[in-house]
Amino acid sequence: MKDAITRADFFRGLIAAVVAFAILLGLEAVERGLPERTDAAAEALSVSADIEGEYAPGTYSASANGFGGPVEVTLTVGENGGITDADIVGEGETPDVGGAAIPQLAAQLLSAQSAEIDGVSGASLTTGAVRQAAADALSAAAGLEVLSGPKAEDGNLFIPGSYMASAKGFGGDVTIVVKVSENAIEALDIDGDHETENIGSFAVSMLGERILAAQSPNIDALTGATVTSGAILRALKDAFTQAGADLSAFPDAREPEIDSADKPEETLEADIVIVGAGGAGMTAAIKATQAGKNVILLEKMPYAGGNTTKATGGMNAAETHYQKEQGIQDTVAQFIEDTIKGGHNLNNRALVTVMAENSAKGIDWLDSIGAPLPKVSFSGGATNARIHSPEDGSGVGAYLVTAFLKKMDELKVNVMYDTKATELIYENGAVTGVMAEGKANKYAIHAKSVILTTGGFGSNEDMIVQYKPELKGTVKTGSPGATGDGIVMAQEVGAALVDIEQIQLHPTVEQSTSMLITEGVRGDGAILVNQSGKRFINELLTRDVVSAAELEQEGSYAYIIFDQKLREGLKATEKYISIGITTQADTVEELAEKLGIDPATLADTVTTWNQYVADKNDPDFGRDTGMEADLSHGPYYAIKIAPGIHHTMGGVQIDTDAEVISTRGRAIPGLFAAGEVTGGVHGGNRIGGTAVTDIVVFGTIASESAVEYCDK
Ligand code: ADP
Repeated sequence: MKDAITRADFFRGLIAAVVAFAILLGLEAVERGLPERTDAAAEALSVSADIEGEYAPGTYSASANGFGGPVEVTLTVGENGGITDADIVGEGETPDVGGAAIPQLAAQLLSAQSAEIDGVSGASLTTGAVRQAAADALSAAAGLEVLSGPKAEDGNLFIPGSYMASAKGFGGDVTIVVKVSENAIEALDIDGDHETENIGSFAVSMLGERILAAQSPNIDALTGATVTSGAILRALKDAFTQAGADLSAFPDAREPEIDSADKPEETLEADIVIVGAGGAGMTAAIKATQAGKNVILLEKMPYAGGNTTKATGGMNAAETHYQKEQGIQDTVAQFIEDTIKGGHNLNNRALVTVMAENSAKGIDWLDSIGAPLPKVSFSGGATNARIHSPEDGSGVGAYLVTAFLKKMDELKVNVMYDTKATELIYENGAVTGVMAEGKANKYAIHAKSVILTTGGFGSNEDMIVQYKPELKGTVKTGSPGATGDGIVMAQEVGAALVDIEQIQLHPTVEQSTSMLITEGVRGDGAILVNQSGKRFINELLTRDVVSAAELEQEGSYAYIIFDQKLREGLKATEKYISIGITTQADTVEELAEKLGIDPATLADTVTTWNQYVADKNDPDFGRDTGMEADLSHGPYYAIKIAPGIHHTMGGVQIDTDAEVISTRGRAIPGLFAAGEVTGGVHGGNRIGGTAVTDIVVFGTIASESAVEYCDK
């Protein structure tokens, strides 16, 4: 025992030295004004494997929400029960605040040998997330030491049977049922119905397959779906513990990262290479394959969808058969004018005209691939009912991505996931292919033409700061793949950029989760109030105007307030409630108290608003939409929100044939682009519902032009 204490003291001293060194490194970087990392990603620190402690050996992960999304903490417990490794991943943390704090927080976990760490001042949200995730990981590590728990027979992995366990995912509990024999995982059923469609749900299906193949819970989380992945793996370990398994007996099946220089290069050929499997890329891939071309579609993430998956509204289109059948008067000409007015007259009129003229055909095409959008309604900035959405009210993006994937499957489109295009091949004045890198290989893909559909750069802090420095540190709502790669690659072969500084803020983004609160909440009657409990704007003005008004309020945030009736009529609100970002109270006064707002003021604001709804007149701010229902049915709900980066309107310059235009004003032979990677369509402000029109119409045009170019 004495010996143990002496050794523990020795290791404590050693750890203190490691920590001091790590903190010094961190401080030095801060002093030099350099964030240690640009992407606030993984940081791992380790100490001697002999350190003693009270935990069961193994690796334990848990995550909690930090400033810009989930922060995952993975702790390794060594042979002697001490924490020997601390690995923290917080891709969404602001690089020079929470991100810069990550190495220090990892060092503190090792030093404290517990989740009770001092934290880093100025990075309180990241600190809080690390504390919570570490505590969760350690309670799993402690719970597993229960000696009285069941134990599999010697030589066996499991006590055969079926076991069930749950853990908190992104949208609620993820539940797994695993069937094990004495030494194998026979079947695994994962129920993650509340996870984000086409993001978390990919994690559900892909992780299930990986676990069965690896016969181990020690596998990589799915990039971009770390919270759902973490929940599945925690639940699985819980189930295995019930099954009497020794968690340290499973193999480490995490894929080792291969150094780029060590990856062998393979040469591939295709008629058309399409870079990026979001809405524009999948539309182009389907069309080009149907035209008989041999297509390779590259996607750097492990799954398709990009920002398209996140689109909640619908698709703007004019003179469609649905509008006609429903007696809605609308014209292509009005669609063009609305788009340009909404875009502050910055839009390229020729591109807008082509988009509007082809929008009804786009709707017909979606009908033909089994993705009809029959529900037509009004949306912000449109003179007539023009936004087309799925019949059942589900989010348009995930709905379309599901349909595109099904069609691509049917057509056997060759999609290379986890494969990132790194450079365009440019020979004799034309683009003739793409260089790419996968997990194990590099590729030189030679093609007759290339279509860039890589999306925007809303998740790339460096590019945001480069083009609009005042948005430094703003929360991002985009998919992790939206890093502007296509813009950079196109520039390298001489492409011109347009409106690149036009970046759209969405006014209602919950900041700790980056969860975008759909416009539908305001459209159905919610109001925005500031910390003084007062309204400050017509909540349904364009996104840029409402965002700017929020930034002028005390603390640069606001609360979105709604009631039970609104909740019951809008499916999207269930997610906000289940992930715990909503404050709820039976009365408006109680809600105010919970929010630190003066109860009488908030009560007065809501009563006054309800009168305006009854009068159909808002003398304060002139709101005249979203006034069908008042806010009078408790319980009442509030979500604290602020603006977040949503859409990057600018990008690569294209002409109406989706040819990429060079800085010298000429089309670059062999290179086409569509979707958020391009600029000009949306001008200075994108109208809700037009991103989907853009991807469908220009995805189609880019495909047709690329096919024609191949045939030349
Ligand atoms: P759009 O709405 O224009 O279709 P999305 O954001 O929906 O744009 O899709 C863009 C897709 O491109 C995303 O799935 C993203 O991960 C992918 N992507 C971005 N850069 C690359 C790259 N360098 N290589 C391969 N795929 C990429």
